[in-house]
Amino acid sequence: MAVARLTTKSKFYIDLAYWEQRGRNFRQELYDALCETCKQRYSLEQVQLVDHVHPETGQVQKMDALLDCASAECGNAPEFLNPKMPLTRAIFRAFLASGNEPLSAEEIYARIKRGSPNVILKELSSQQMEDDGITLL
Ligand SMILES: [Zn+2]
Repeated sequence: MAVARLTTKSKFYIDLAYWEQRGRNFRQELYDALCETCKQRYSLEQVQLVDHVHPETGQVQKMDALLDCASAECGNAPEFLNPKMPLTRAIFRAFLASGNEPLSAEEIYARIKRGSPNVILKELSSQQMEDDGITLL
């Protein structure tokens, strides 16, 4: 990744195709992040598509119920972004809470209020985040 041209306004997202290529289960990761109530409400095995309303544009699109739940409900729960979890995990969860809407380091900072936009940008370009499928838009 060409780090030099990245800025805190560069947008990143979770590349789900990357997870598939690696044979990793994104839905499992997503499911683990949900609160207990939502875990009981949704099935990990059965994909259920729901109408997801974009919070800003109001546009409706079909979305995996787990991701919709993470963005519309669990993402607002205090334990979803536990201050004790590693920064990379908090960043990853910021993407879940956005419904995997592309986010810049500045936008992530506004959500998680940890480190600084520059620190987050550095993490976003790290090998560890690349391993989690975090990709430049
Ligand atoms: Zn929940």
